[in-house]
Amino acid sequence: MGKKQILILGAGFGGLETASGLAAAARDAFEITLIDKSDSFFIGFSKIDVLFGRRTENEVRSLYRHLRADDVRFVQATITAIDTGAKMVTTNAGAFVYDYLVVALGADLAPSATPGFVESGAHEFYSMGGAVRLRPVIEQVTHGTVVIGILGAPYKCPPAPYEVAYQLHAYFAQRGVRDRITLKVVCPSPRPVPNPAVSAALERLLAERGIELVAGTPVSAIDAAGKAVVLDGRRLPYDLFIGVPVHVPPEVVRASPLGAKGFVPVSPANLETAIPGVYAVGDVSKVPAGDMAVPKAGAFAEDAARTVVSDILVREGLAAERVAFKARGACFFEIGGGEVARINADFLGGPAPVMTLDGPSRQWQADRDAFETSHRERWFDPDGAP
Ligand SMILES: Cc1cc2nc3c(=O)[nH]c(=O)nc-3n(C[C@H](O)[C@H](O)[C@H](O)COP(=O)(O)OP(=O)(O)OC[C@H]3O[C@@H](n4cnc5c(N)ncnc54)[C@H](O)[C@@H]3O)c2cc1C
Repeated sequence: MGKKQILILGAGFGGLETASGLAAAARDAFEITLIDKSDSFFIGFSKIDVLFGRRTENEVRSLYRHLRADDVRFVQATITAIDTGAKMVTTNAGAFVYDYLVVALGADLAPSATPGFVESGAHEFYSMGGAVRLRPVIEQVTHGTVVIGILGAPYKCPPAPYEVAYQLHAYFAQRGVRDRITLKVVCPSPRPVPNPAVSAALERLLAERGIELVAGTPVSAIDAAGKAVVLDGRRLPYDLFIGVPVHVPPEVVRASPLGAKGFVPVSPANLETAIPGVYAVGDVSKVPAGDMAVPKAGAFAEDAARTVVSDILVREGLAAERVAFKARGACFFEIGGGEVARINADFLGGPAPVMTLDGPSRQWQADRDAFETSHRERWFDPDGAP
């Protein structure tokens, strides 16, 4: 019997962990193809380092041509159609058939989903391009009101907008202009994260820095000409608006049967979609967790990938037991001055989601650095040619 064809769409946290996990466990049983439109990978929080000028885009980039799993075939191509009936995926570099399909295409940013946001300049730090463009803009700020607005939910890494607010405070203070700048965060939900204790800690960190939280009211539009955030009829004037754009499933997923309900519903047991042999992991998926959904974070995408790897191995008779998906992981956030906090979450490991907060403290900086280094070194050869 020939090798089974495993096709993995998207080489972010979910796709990289699936590809390297399957290659490590059973390289002889599968032909593994990993497709991504980009030539490189970035850890999510490295965009914040680029925004604040601590590192350059090139310093935080890992090139797919340096993938460690050299028996994984990487194809740089844009995926244009997913045909689950024909078990075929079409790209601008040709078509690929599969026995198992793992969709790990993440979430796309949709700035145009908020009226007026694009016209306002659409400043954001959720894409590497956005972080690079925003850097010189924050350098010019000497006074006025800076508003960070979360424009929809769900969005990736729920603490990230607060992390940027804390760091803007430290950055403006260090430049000696903080007392001339008003900082606000606008959040559509009643509190920053679902867990009340962790939310209270995030809110305390905002209050200690004199950052106002405007919670519980969705942004309906940005009045670009009048420079105001429109909230339920209320207006919040700004001099610089930084948005966390609405997140949507990638267009190719929306155009396929998988995306008929938005983010792809999957079973929490094995991350399989309604179509047998087709999995969705990471930000592209929607995994129920009590009356919520598992948040969009790299740590959970990676955890999901481990379950998918084990599910495929069990189905192929190559492993005895499936690894349960616990939606367990940690998110680091830096508050400025070298202090880092860590949110630990376990959404499916017990009867109810659990979230705790460690820090902030200087001791977590090393762990944040280690998170990045260990992931990049697990998936990529750091000594690869430039
Ligand atoms: C500022 C910021 C800070 C963050 N901090 C943290 C943190 O501290 N901890 C944490 O756990 N998470 C963090 N995250 C979230 C984390 O980055 C994401 O949740 C994670 O990357 C999701 O992994 P994924 O594999 O689902 O998708 P992604 O990593 O987004 O990968 C999807 C891949 O699919 C590719 N793709 C999409 N469409 C196509 C197409 N049509 N054709 C070909 N390729 C395509 C993309 O190029 C991309 O490489 C942060 C995110 C941001 C923006």
